[in-house]
Amino acid sequence: MTQQIYVAGDWVASNASETLDCVDPSTGEAFDKIANGNAQDVDAAVKAARAALPGWRSTPAGERAALLRKVAAAIVDNREDLAALETRDNGKPMAESYIDVDTIAAIFGMYADMADDLATNPEEVVETGGDVMEVTVARVPIGVIGMITPWNFPLEQFTWKVAPALAAGCTAVIKPSEFTSLSSLALARLMGEAGLPAGVLNVVTGTGPRVGEALVMHPGVDKVSFTGSTATGKQIMRGAAEDLKRVSLELGGKNPVIVFDDVDIDAAAEWVTFGAFVNQGQVCTATSRLLVHEAIADKFEARLAEVAANVKIGSGDTDAVKMGPLVSQSQYDKVMGYIETGRSEGARVLTGGGRPDEMDKGYYIAPTIFTDVTADMRVWREEIFGPVLSVMRFADEAEAIQLANDTPYGLAATVLSADEARTERVADALEAGITWQNCNNMVVIQAPWGGVKKSGMGRELGRWGLDAFLEPKQKTRWKAGGGVGWYDMKIA
Ligand code: NDP
Repeated sequence: MTQQIYVAGDWVASNASETLDCVDPSTGEAFDKIANGNAQDVDAAVKAARAALPGWRSTPAGERAALLRKVAAAIVDNREDLAALETRDNGKPMAESYIDVDTIAAIFGMYADMADDLATNPEEVVETGGDVMEVTVARVPIGVIGMITPWNFPLEQFTWKVAPALAAGCTAVIKPSEFTSLSSLALARLMGEAGLPAGVLNVVTGTGPRVGEALVMHPGVDKVSFTGSTATGKQIMRGAAEDLKRVSLELGGKNPVIVFDDVDIDAAAEWVTFGAFVNQGQVCTATSRLLVHEAIADKFEARLAEVAANVKIGSGDTDAVKMGPLVSQSQYDKVMGYIETGRSEGARVLTGGGRPDEMDKGYYIAPTIFTDVTADMRVWREEIFGPVLSVMRFADEAEAIQLANDTPYGLAATVLSADEARTERVADALEAGITWQNCNNMVVIQAPWGGVKKSGMGRELGRWGLDAFLEPKQKTRWKAGGGVGWYDMKIA
């Protein structure tokens, strides 16, 4: 039976008769179906979110916090099922699905604490230097949020948006990726069971051009929060401009790692391999460009090839597996296409380069490293979003920084060196929203996550993730005895 959508607190059939298969990426076989919803579904969901807004916005923030804590507890109670569902739908190793489940429970808890803080500190005092006005700033919810998420971290992306939005007092309609909608539906079910009032959260499944676009264009949506490709992000910004909707965009990257000649080669090779191939390289912050100092390049590449070739590949539920299949046939074809492009551009395959021999079904691609890469090659310049790493060499710090920044993207950048003054200096010079020094691809839920340049705008996680759903509202109070209007006006 086709999965229902969640609108106004009810599980209902979509108005559309079309369905989409949920495919297990480790076999390529369908195991469930979701609705390919339509504009009518979106309209019903947005109306439900609008109707729920006055009640939710005026629910004391402390009560919203209590509800979010119940959701966190329900996630912990359903850890096994959520992780298994995520691995089946997305393909990622179970160990990583468990990390995702544990992380989202922590995120619901963190935003519950921030809702409590909103309850105790609703307004910030602004010092004006004068004495005839008292000025405070309240933080008010933006309203109805349209959320569109991709397929690489379905549980996480749902939570990075839904938890802070609801903590802030917003209501929401979310469209998860057509490839991985099941865990978003499962979370919505847990939230409904935890007592979330009807309409505060609505989930409509379906494709981007049908459901996503209808959500972006709906006049009842006040803000669009999007994670996905830069191309779609541009389309969303154009669509949102029609009503001057607010937008947050978390987009792609072509993230560099710079490895200096003073590193511990074994440790650095582990950090680079992890950053490049975790989640099959399908990470917006995935390390996809390696800049290695020429003095250690031969040695480092040899060690890197060894480490990468030893990454255990298999279906997500296999013991100790580090890499699963890619998410879908289309992503598999796209990444294989880039590997062919790299070869035809003249890059050399150091390791990997296609499907692992032992895999006869599923969307598996071995960790692939290209050397003899030049800065004009497509594998160096374009986001691949799969397990492909391109390597160039540099002679000095200035050249490394120049090559690292020579990209339209600016999401994440990593620097590895034993010299802490140098890692600090280089991190400061890198054009990126997130920098890692002597580590790689660490997600810190209390810290801001997002990019500069064509990697997007706005930040998720931490207090910045909450601010994304709040508008500052100025409240100026005139004190008795301060004079009257025109003649006593002061520029404070
Ligand atoms: P998309 O940007 O196409 O998809 C992300 C989300 O946007 C999905 O829910 C998608 O729907 C939806 N969408 C697509 N078109 C529209 C539209 N016109 N209006 C509104 N919503 C829309 O990314 P893909 O999944 O196709 O992946 C393609 C590439 O994007 C990857 O190879 C990678 O380079 C990049 N990417 C970046 C991510 C990141 O975290 N920064 C995450 C995922 C991808 P649908 O369900 O139909 O796909």
